[in-house]
Amino acid sequence: MAVPNGGLVVEPLNKYLELFTRRCLPVFATRDWHPKGHVSFKERGGPWPPHCVQNTWGAEISGGLSLPSYAMIIDKAFSPDRDAYSGFQETILDLELHRLGVRRLFIGGLATDYCVRMTVLDSIHLGFETILLLDAIKGVDMRAGDSEKAVEEMVLKGAIGITLSDVST
Ligand code: ZN
Repeated sequence: MAVPNGGLVVEPLNKYLELFTRRCLPVFATRDWHPKGHVSFKERGGPWPPHCVQNTWGAEISGGLSLPSYAMIIDKAFSPDRDAYSGFQETILDLELHRLGVRRLFIGGLATDYCVRMTVLDSIHLGFETILLLDAIKGVDMRAGDSEKAVEEMVLKGAIGITLSDVST
């Protein structure tokens, strides 16, 4: 499964990552980590073709992404019978963020209308100041306009949309 033009988020994400890495700020990467035959797959009546299967190339973090060596990888949706779009769902992300005293999150990646949307909404709900990286997200757009609607919803619910030019100076 591929997000159309999903690779285009790598370059802008790397620019944000450079800003964070230079300041040794915490970096987290969430990823789908599905067992074979996961409930979200079409073979089980789910909406998606098989994707991000544990220990296969499909679950690998993009080789082009410049994650710092100290970045923490958060696996999600690893239970065979439960899906999770949000990086917070059944993970240690919230715990780790609190442990580090993080209060503001900058969120980008894939896909705008699914995992980014749910992670952002959970982040707001959990009380983090939530910054959405508008130039470092791409959506699936199963229905035309889904991504646009997702961004509107996230902003309406309290996310602050920015682009690189807002932070690089
Ligand atoms: Zn998935």
